[in-house]
Amino acid sequence: MQQKFLTNPAPNEMPTRADVVIIGGGPTGAAAAWAIERAAPGTRIVLLEQSAQLAAGASLASLENFRTCWAAPCLHRMMIRSRDVFFRADEYFGEGSNLGIKEQGYLFIAFNDDQAAVLKSDVEHLQRCGLSHMQYLNADEVGQRYPWLKGRVAAAKFDAHAGWLDSNALVYAFARATSSTTFLLDVKETRIRVEGGRVQGVTTSLGAIDAPQVVIAAGANARAVGRTAGIEIPIVVRPRQSFTTGWRHDDFAEEMPCIISGAPHPHVRPEARSGAIFGWEYRINSAKIDPENADGHDDALINPVWPVDTLRDPRFPSLTLSLLARQFGHKPGEGFGDPRYLRGIFHRAGYYVYRDNAYITTPKGRRQGYASQRAIIDAWPGIDGLFLTVAHVGHGIMSAPAAGEILASRLVGQPLPDPEFAAFGLDVPYVEHDSGGLSGSGLPGDE
Ligand SMILES: Cc1cc2nc3c(=O)[nH]c(=O)nc-3n(C[C@H](O)[C@H](O)[C@H](O)COP(=O)(O)OP(=O)(O)OC[C@H]3O[C@@H](n4cnc5c(N)ncnc54)[C@H](O)[C@@H]3O)c2cc1C
Repeated sequence: MQQKFLTNPAPNEMPTRADVVIIGGGPTGAAAAWAIERAAPGTRIVLLEQSAQLAAGASLASLENFRTCWAAPCLHRMMIRSRDVFFRADEYFGEGSNLGIKEQGYLFIAFNDDQAAVLKSDVEHLQRCGLSHMQYLNADEVGQRYPWLKGRVAAAKFDAHAGWLDSNALVYAFARATSSTTFLLDVKETRIRVEGGRVQGVTTSLGAIDAPQVVIAAGANARAVGRTAGIEIPIVVRPRQSFTTGWRHDDFAEEMPCIISGAPHPHVRPEARSGAIFGWEYRINSAKIDPENADGHDDALINPVWPVDTLRDPRFPSLTLSLLARQFGHKPGEGFGDPRYLRGIFHRAGYYVYRDNAYITTPKGRRQGYASQRAIIDAWPGIDGLFLTVAHVGHGIMSAPAAGEILASRLVGQPLPDPEFAAFGLDVPYVEHDSGGLSGSGLPGDE
C-alpha cells in the first residue's frame, strides 16, 4: 500500500509522476486535494509541503473563527457552504471526525448611534440576501443577554451561525479523507516547470515530479512560487497579530460569543476553559520595513518578510487590552484592564494575503484600487495546467471547503458549484460589497 505521508523518501518511494501537484499544505492546499478527489475520484495527487507538518503557515497565528455574515453574496455563500461541510464532517471526512466546533456566535458591538446605524443597515442587507438568522439587537436586548455590557453598548449585530474550530484538525481531516493523495513533507526549493506554454511538473529538493496540472496554494509565498513559472501573481501581504492568554475575567464567560468591538475593531473570544484569544487588524508601517518592498499604500508588502515573527510588535497585547478596556469602560484592574491578562501571553504573527488587482472605476473614469476580500481561485491564463488558490485574506480557514470545491471545478472542467463563485476569478476587478472585512460591513459609506 502506498504510504500517504512521506518525509525524506527513499528513491524508490519518491513519486515521479502525478495527475496534479499541489504546492502548499495549509487549509487551502489540503482542501483542494480533498475536493479534487471528490470531483474526480482516483486522480493521483501529490501535495508538497515545505515544513515537517501540514498547516504550517498563517493558520498557526489565526483565531480559527468562522462566520456567515459577509456582505458580498459570493463571500457569504462560500461561508454557508463551508459551514455546512463543517457540520457534516462525518459524512465528508469520515466517521468520528472531530473538528472541535464551538458555535457560540459573533457579536459585533456599536458604542454610538453612527456605529449602530451601520450595523442595522448591514443586518437588513444580510436578511435581504437570505441570512434570516442575522439579528440586530438594541441596547436593552444586548443588556438582557449580556448584563456586563448593559449601559455601555448602543447596539449589536449577532451572527448565530458563527464560532470557531480546530484548524489543524480541519487540515488533517481533509488529508485523511483523500485516498489518492501523497503528502510529501519537508520539501524545499520547489520550482514549476513550464515548456511551450504548458505545465510539465515540478522540480524539488527531493527530485522531479512530472504532472500536467499544478496548483499554487502557498499562502504568503505564492508570489515567489509563481515566479518560478515566470509569472507575477497580483497579491500583497499584510502582517497581522494575535495573542492567547491563559486567564479571562469572570464576566467574559466560557459560553460568550466572539466579540468584535467597535472601530478600530479589536476582537476577542474565549479560549479553552480559562483563557482568551485576541486579534486586531492593527497596521504596521510597511515603508519603515523596506521602501522597495512596500506597495505604496497602507501596510501592504509585495514580498513577505521571514520569519514573520520578527514583525511582531511587543506592545500589541497591552495596546489591544487597553483599547478594549477603554471601549468597555473598564478602569485599571477591572475587566480587560486586569493585569492578569498580561501573564503568560502567547503572541503570534502571520500574513493576510490579498489580491492586488481589484479596483473600482470612478465617475471620471479613473481606476481606484481597494483591498478586496475575494480570494483568487482560478486557472492562470497563458499557461495550460497552472491553477491558483491564493489571497484568502483573514478567512482561509472558514472558507476552505468551498474554496477547495471552486478550485476543483476549475481544474476538472466542471461548472462552478454556484454561479456567484465566478467572482473569485483572477480578472474580476470588482464585486459589490467586497471590502471592509472586520473593519466594516462592505456596504456603501462604510469604508
Ligand atoms: C492573525 C491572524 C488571524 C486569522 N484569523 C482567522 C480566522 O479567525 N478565521 C479564518 O478563517 N482565517 C483566519 N486567518 C486567515 C487564515 O489563517 C488564512 O487565510 C489561511 O491560513 C490561508 O490558508 P492557505 O492554505 O492559503 O495559506 P497558509 O495557511 O499560509 O498555508 C500555506 C502552506 O504552504 C506552505 N508553503 C509555503 N510555501 C511553500 C513552498 N514553496 N513549497 C511548499 N510548501 C509551501 C506553508 O508552509 C504552509 O503550510 C487569520 C490569519 C492571521 C494571520
